[in-house]
Amino acid sequence: MDKSVGFGLESSHDFLNQLTNGVYLVDRSRRIKFWNRGAEELTGYAASDVVGSACSDNFLMHVDAEGHSLCLFGCPLEATMNDGQAREAEVFLRHRDGHRVPVLVRTSPIRDAQGHIVGGIEVFDDNAARASMREEIGALRELALVDALTEIGNRRYAEAALAARHAELDRYGWAYGVLMIDVDHFKAFNDRYGHATGDRVLRMVATTLKSNVRTYDVAGRWGGEEFIGILEKITVDELARRAETLRLLVSASSLTVDGVALSVTVSIGGTVARSSETAAEAVRRADELLHQSKAAGRNRCSFG
Ligand code: GH3
Ligand code: MG
Ligand code: MG
Repeated sequence: MDKSVGFGLESSHDFLNQLTNGVYLVDRSRRIKFWNRGAEELTGYAASDVVGSACSDNFLMHVDAEGHSLCLFGCPLEATMNDGQAREAEVFLRHRDGHRVPVLVRTSPIRDAQGHIVGGIEVFDDNAARASMREEIGALRELALVDALTEIGNRRYAEAALAARHAELDRYGWAYGVLMIDVDHFKAFNDRYGHATGDRVLRMVATTLKSNVRTYDVAGRWGGEEFIGILEKITVDELARRAETLRLLVSASSLTVDGVALSVTVSIGGTVARSSETAAEAVRRADELLHQSKAAGRNRCSFG
């Protein structure tokens, strides 16, 4: 890295590289001066890819839960360098593989000896979700419950989760929600960009879904380009809010192929299961609602 502008923090770099948190330093023009190993792990971008580039080049494309771009409006690091106040925000960054990763970012100003703000530091971590996900994948793989392409739970796993949630509904009255999620116009996507790129998109969508449901909820591959979400102890309002966030995050995920950013959208149908019905009936209703979302123009959610 360029040692000439290290804010006198060069001696700290070894230490910063030991952290599992992502850490990066920028100068006043938001040019990245240092990018630690944790940041490489969390984002998929190596220091050599990003040091020297401006974070306003927007390769991480931070968005908030409503899908608003933070690089253009409301960058917490920019605000911190303007007013000197440390900030904390929950944002979603874009991993090099395209999927959206939820992170907690903390920003602080860097001052010179005279107290002038000469840069900013951002520390971010993934709320430990990644580590637990890796453990979970290992355990599920042993039981042949992982989908080979996307590395999220497979149909068998989703059916087992549905049976477990439905038994809890019958026994304790705990309501659970079902989301059926289908990629829009995916046949056309494959025809245009090829099956291998289609596979990468399915992996990206799966990782976005899996990374953004609560740890005890299930995001599984139901088959083909269709996914299922099974959300514990939930009301229809909360289910709708979460589904809308998932839909936005998928549409805000993108895969860069030959310099072109490719993305897809999903249509979603969601419902809360009733104790008067079977799990299969709840799934069927969610599927009908999904088809309503398709008929209404796709890239939307329907609930009932
Ligand atoms: P709609 O918006 O109505 O859902 O349109 P669609 O084109 O997504 O739906 P359709 O059911 O006509 O096509 C689904 C496509 O998904 C066709 C199939 O080739 C593709 N697909 C299913 N599984 C995979 C997979 O594992 N990899 C890839 N690349 N494509 C897949
Ligand atoms: Mg489809
Ligand atoms: Mg389909």
